[in-house]
Amino acid sequence: MSQTEEASDAAEYARQREQMVKQQIQGRGITDPAVLAAMRTVPREAFVPSPYRQLAYDDSPLPIPANQTISQPYIVGYMIAALALRPGDRVLEIGAGSGYAAALLSRIVREVYAVERHLELVDYARERLARLGYDNVWIRHGDGTQGWPEHAPYGGIIVAAGGPAVPEPLKDQLAIGGRLIMPVGHSRHQQTLVRITRTDETTYRDERLVGVAFVPLIGDEGW
Ligand code: SAH
Repeated sequence: MSQTEEASDAAEYARQREQMVKQQIQGRGITDPAVLAAMRTVPREAFVPSPYRQLAYDDSPLPIPANQTISQPYIVGYMIAALALRPGDRVLEIGAGSGYAAALLSRIVREVYAVERHLELVDYARERLARLGYDNVWIRHGDGTQGWPEHAPYGGIIVAAGGPAVPEPLKDQLAIGGRLIMPVGHSRHQQTLVRITRTDETTYRDERLVGVAFVPLIGDEGW
């Protein structure tokens, strides 16, 4: 591709990104200014595999390597907004996948730690985050149901895969006043988004938000 073609491509994606934020995110009631600003900035097309790049701003999840998916933009925006993050927070993400949600989080908080069980995706996400210069994100290869205790406690934890229950290690690694959001369900492919707020050392408040369909959380405290 020539430089002029690349520039016009980038301009076209920027236009689609703006439209995505207006219609899919703001249009459906998400108002958190930090979330909207991050979604206006991060190029989702850079996280979508090349055969699907033209669809980067569609209102849907898309395939990524290892038989996984990059989530629908609205769901990512909804989950991040539900964490009510503050700029100084440290956030943990389970299921880094393409790295797109981690990139958004990196524009909102100080430090992002993400765990991914497929090595192929660890490399995929790291490569893209590095290329875009998002240097406050760290990705570890492993079973995210155990969390990442070395950097705990976290002001927010986001789980991007659906499991039968919220893993205990994740609840332990939540800061007091922090929130966790995760798809929880009895079936491997249908869940309800559950938000947990840690109110003190031993007390957690649970809320059931909306019905969703995520890929399964595979691990010691998952499926
Ligand atoms: N947040 C991602 C969405 C990825 S889909 C994005 O923005 O693209 C969910 C991811 O969770 C998949 O990549 C899957 O491999 C991963 N996953 C599933 N179980 C896991 C576990 N126990 N630990 C870490 N990652 C897990």
